[in-house]
Amino acid sequence: MSIKENVNRLLREIDRVKSLHHLTQNVTICAATKYVDVKVMKELLQAGITNFGENRVQDFLTKYEVLQNEDITWHFIGTLQTNKVKKMINKISYLHSLDRENLAEEINKYRKAPLNCFIQVNCSGEVSKHGLRVDDVHSFIYKLEKYDKIKIIGLMTMAENTTDIEVLKQTFRTLRELRDEIQTLKLPYAPCTELSMGMSNDYQIAIREGATVIRIGSLLFSNGGNNDD
Ligand SMILES: *Cc1c(COP(=O)(O)O)cnc(C)c1O
Repeated sequence: MSIKENVNRLLREIDRVKSLHHLTQNVTICAATKYVDVKVMKELLQAGITNFGENRVQDFLTKYEVLQNEDITWHFIGTLQTNKVKKMINKISYLHSLDRENLAEEINKYRKAPLNCFIQVNCSGEVSKHGLRVDDVHSFIYKLEKYDKIKIIGLMTMAENTTDIEVLKQTFRTLRELRDEIQTLKLPYAPCTELSMGMSNDYQIAIREGATVIRIGSLLFSNGGNNDD
């Protein structure tokens, strides 16, 4: 199965889920490219994918260097260490993993234009997961007002690694409800319209619950493996 076929199959599946459930939101595919090299990323570009999400600063910088003349929107989706902010923060368009104030402070120091950020939320309560607890998100958002280079465009979560559809649904619904609450606050620096949720194994459920950005890795690179339902 080629990259192009995987992309086309994913696009068809997104359309199918949307029309089945009468959903109208735009769903952006952010390719999680940690698994692949720049050669494969060029195949993704040829297949029409332009949003790339990287997890590791050094890999990102290497790939950015090689692909800098391509029409790519770069997302950083992994945990970001404060001491690595300076060398990469002006090269990305989206950060999916804002989860602590000292990171916001460091970004504010080095970033030139406001950065589109998702706050990472740990909806499942698993201790191993990064992200803020649901109950801490409101107070965190208020703390961000003073950082003029941080724009909160939405929330991000990683669901539990489970096939239990009800658990996944509840996780994504929790994030959506939180997003809706924050939206009603009408904070100029936190429009919070977006939901970054859903990966290869759970994106259909995430879309159904309102995802506007899905982060897809293995499904795009699988060799004929069928991860659809
Ligand atoms: C790897 C990764 C993904 C994609 O995971 P797949 O299951 O391979 O689709 C999404 N989000 C983050 C933060 C990742 O690190």
